[in-house]
Amino acid sequence: MSSAATVCEVYINDSMPAHRLGNCAFHEVMHNVLAVGDGMHSLGGVAASPTPERAILTAESIRRMSPRLFLPRPQFLGRMQK
Ligand SMILES: [Zn+2]
Repeated sequence: MSSAATVCEVYINDSMPAHRLGNCAFHEVMHNVLAVGDGMHSLGGVAASPTPERAILTAESIRRMSPRLFLPRPQFLGRMQK
C-alpha cells in the first residue's frame, strides 16, 4: 500500500445497533481526515476504541478535524473488486 493512500473498513454483525454502526463509520472517517492510526483513540467520544454506541464528538476532535475536512485524502483501491 502506498504511504499516501488510506483505507477504511467497518465490519458489522446482524445485531449491531444502528447508532453504533453510524459511530463506527464516522470513526473511520475520522481516521481518514486526521490521517492518524490508533493514537486517535485517545481523543475519546466517537474516536474511542471500541467505538461506543452512544458517544459524542468531543471538542478536541472538532478542533482537530475542522481544518482538515476538505483536504484530499487518496483511498487505497488496490484490492477493490472491479
Ligand atoms: Zn480506530
